[in-house]
Amino acid sequence: MKQKRKKRPKPGEPQHITKAVTQIRLLEANAGKLAALDELAPVYLLLCQQYVMLFCMEEAPDKLRAPLYPTPLSERWHRVAIMQAAGIARSWRTNRAQAYQQYQEDLERYQQHQADGTSRAKATEPVWHEWNVATLREPCIQANVNVVKLEESRDSTYDYWLTISTLSKGQPMQVPVKLAAYHKEQLMDPKTHLARKLNTSVQLNQREGLWWLTLSYDEEVTVQTPPDAPVVGIDVGIANFVTTSTGKHYGSFHKNLRARHKRDRAKRRRKAKLRACLKKKGVQKLPSTSSRTGQRLIRHVKQEINYAVNQCYKDPDHQGVQFAYEQLSVASMRFKARAQNAYLRASHLGHIPQQILWNSQKRGVVATPVSSAYSSQECSVCHYTDRTNRPDQRTFRCQVCGFEAHADHNAAINLSRRVGDTQLRACRDRTAIKTVLMQRHEAWKQRQGVEHTRPVTRRKRGKSSASLTSL
Ligand SMILES: [Zn+2]
Repeated sequence: MKQKRKKRPKPGEPQHITKAVTQIRLLEANAGKLAALDELAPVYLLLCQQYVMLFCMEEAPDKLRAPLYPTPLSERWHRVAIMQAAGIARSWRTNRAQAYQQYQEDLERYQQHQADGTSRAKATEPVWHEWNVATLREPCIQANVNVVKLEESRDSTYDYWLTISTLSKGQPMQVPVKLAAYHKEQLMDPKTHLARKLNTSVQLNQREGLWWLTLSYDEEVTVQTPPDAPVVGIDVGIANFVTTSTGKHYGSFHKNLRARHKRDRAKRRRKAKLRACLKKKGVQKLPSTSSRTGQRLIRHVKQEINYAVNQCYKDPDHQGVQFAYEQLSVASMRFKARAQNAYLRASHLGHIPQQILWNSQKRGVVATPVSSAYSSQECSVCHYTDRTNRPDQRTFRCQVCGFEAHADHNAAINLSRRVGDTQLRACRDRTAIKTVLMQRHEAWKQRQGVEHTRPVTRRKRGKSSASLTSL
C-alpha cells in the first residue's frame, strides 16, 4: 500500500498521490491458465535486462528509445520492457553517481587529513569499487493498457478480468481477479461510498512460482498542518528504527531479525566462496549470491519499518504536529549501518525516510527533510559539538554542560530545531555547519557566564568537581 512520490506538499494545496493495492493473488481458474504468463515472464525479463545493461553502461536511459534487440515479444511488449528498463537504469545511475560523489568527498577528506597530519590511526584510504549493473531477479512487469487490460467483471463471481497479451499473437489470455475484503475496503471511497477509479497501469510480480497483481488509484489529499504547528524531530537508526524528539522509540532490528540476518549473511558468504572457487576453475555460468530467504528477509524488514513509521504518525501525542526528519546521505547511512555491526545494509536504512515521506503525504501532514550533519554529536542544550559527546552508540553525554540522554533522543531534538534554520541551511558543507554550531555554543557560554570550555570527566560525579579539571 505504498508508492514513492517525489513532489513535496505545499500547505493548503490539494495534491494527488498514487496509492497501490498490493498482494492480490492471481487465481488459476483452471489448470495451466497462467502457463502462458509463466512462458512470457523469462522472455520479458531477459529483454528488460538487456535494455537495463544498455541504459546503465552505454546510453542515457530513454524510455522512448527505438527497439534494438530481437525478441519473440510483440512490439507493444517490447515498448513496455524499454520503458521499465529506462526507469530501473535511471535510479541505478542516480544511486551510483551519489555513491561516487560520496567516495570522492571521502577521499578528499582523507587526503586533507593526511596532509594536515590529523588522520586517525585506523584511517585507511577510501577505495572505489565499481558497481555491477542492476540485475532483475524475480519477474516484475510494469504493464500498461497496451499489453494488459483491466476490466470490471460483469458477473459476481469475480471482481475484475485481466486480458494479457501473450507470446502467441492474437491469443490473449484472460485471468480472473478476485479481491479480498480488505482490498475492497481500501478501494472504497469513504466520502462517496463508491469504488475508486483504478489506474490503467498494473504491475505483475512472480514470487516463488506464484503471480501477484498490484493495482493503483489516485487520491486527493489536502495538507492539514498549520504552518506554526509544533515540530517533532525524527532520528533514524537500526537499534531503533525511529526515535522522536518527544522521546519515543518505534520498531527495531530485533533479535529475531538479527538472527535471520546473520544466517543469511553466512549463507551468502558460503555462496560467494563457492563462486570464487568455480571462477578459478574457469566455470562460465556462476551461481547467484542472492537467495530467496534473503529477499524475503528484506521484505520483512521493510514491513517492520513501515509498521514503525505508521505507529509514529498514529501516536496520539503526534496529532496536529509537523515532522522534521534527517535527510540521510549515502555516507551517513553507511556509517550508521556500519556502526551497528552491519546488521542492515545502507539501502534498508534508506527505506525509513522514504516511508516517513510517504506517510506524511498520505495523511496530509508536513514532514521536512533537514540536514543531519552533526545532529548526533551536537548537545541539544549547549550546542557543544564533538565526537567525544558519544561515549557509546546509545549514550549522549555532553562534555561541557553534562547533559545526558539517549543518543537518538538528543539527535531527534536537534533535528526538530533545524526546520527553518536558515543559517544552517546556508552552510555549504559539514565544516561550515560545525563552525556555526560551535558559534552557538560560544553564545550559550556567554549567556551562562562560563569563560572556557571545560570538559566534564564524568557527569555522575557531579558538576562541581568537573570544573576543577580545567587547566
Ligand atoms: Zn551541552
